[in-house]
Amino acid sequence: MKSFTYERADTPAAATAAFARAPGARFIAGGTNLLDLMKLEIETPAHLIDVSRLALDKIEATKEGGLRIGAMVRNTDLASDARVRRDYGLLSRALVAGASGQLRNKATTAGNLLQRTRCPYFYDTNQPCNKRKPGSGCAAIGGFNRLHAVVGASEACIATHPSDMAVAMRAFDAAVETVDAAGKVRAIPLADFYRAPGTTPHLETVLAPGELITAVTLPKPVGGTHVYHKVRDRASYAFALISVGVIVQRDGTGRVALGGIGYKPWRVEAAEAELPRGAKAVASGLLAGAKTTHENAYKLPLVERTLAGVLAQAKG
Ligand SMILES: Cc1cc2nc3c(=O)[nH]c(=O)nc-3n(C[C@H](O)[C@H](O)[C@H](O)COP(=O)(O)OP(=O)(O)OC[C@H]3O[C@@H](n4cnc5c(N)ncnc54)[C@H](O)[C@@H]3O)c2cc1C
Ligand code: SF4
Repeated sequence: MKSFTYERADTPAAATAAFARAPGARFIAGGTNLLDLMKLEIETPAHLIDVSRLALDKIEATKEGGLRIGAMVRNTDLASDARVRRDYGLLSRALVAGASGQLRNKATTAGNLLQRTRCPYFYDTNQPCNKRKPGSGCAAIGGFNRLHAVVGASEACIATHPSDMAVAMRAFDAAVETVDAAGKVRAIPLADFYRAPGTTPHLETVLAPGELITAVTLPKPVGGTHVYHKVRDRASYAFALISVGVIVQRDGTGRVALGGIGYKPWRVEAAEAELPRGAKAVASGLLAGAKTTHENAYKLPLVERTLAGVLAQAKG
């Protein structure tokens, strides 16, 4: 690991000011992804700004009837919050489907959104990877790619975003709140938060350098039955091959978000209009324009069948 300096920030303003003094620094929260990347020298920040003790660890009701989840709320605390379990069950279920108990005790809301891909070539510094080293190529295209994206990918990168939590947040129309060093606050819909890989897969979100995530807000609850189903190679402690999150209302309408198939949690609102017609119609809208590789075409029927099972479960 490359050597680095370290400081702990006491306030969001101190954290963003510290970044302004040391451009190229990284915020560190739970450290469960960033430290691994630093040990492998995939990320080599010269300076770390510890944001884990910021007073951003509360889950509060909003005046609109929703929830404001502080950026430093741990995944375990979020999953077990009584309001989340009652009104946003999909989020609680997606969280507990991720990682392990120990990791969820450390992992934060902001860090989870910003965790990086699990493409094996991204983690292997002997391999070309446009995301790790822009312009070097993509070893996954034509390589081992059964885990990779079938929608939204580009000629430069076919990696997926690995977060389970983000899939549920996308279904709830969450927004990401941020602040920068000038004190400017933004609320970014999660739908617009992740950037398509295009020719610049190393740029993963719309955040500016040094912009700090302070919270994620959820609109008021939408009711319905919530089911999250993650298909993976092992029964636990494994990333999604695909995952399906649904919210289904009594009249058969609802929402569907998918994980493990693209660079972001995947939701196509127009496809949800097909819910009363069943999984095949919805899946065809969700996967419109899908492009598969020699190893990952199985994801298309897997999405449709998993969605069929999840809808049957949701309808009781
Ligand atoms: C073995 C293993 C298995 C896992 N399995 C799963 C799984 O099945 N499903 C799943 O969803 N996840 C899984 N994870 C990933 C885990 O959920 C993430 O590592 C974790 O959520 C990251 O949160 P963190 O707080 O530790 O982030 P950190 O590692 O501290 O940071 C991650 C990134 O976020 C940035 N950051 C942190 N806070 C802020 C902020 N407030 N503002 C701006 N930038 C910030 C950091 O600079 C860094 O770039 C797994 C991880 C491991 C190690
Ligand atoms: S898919 Fe993306 S992350 Fe994986 S090797 Fe290609 S460029 Fe790198």
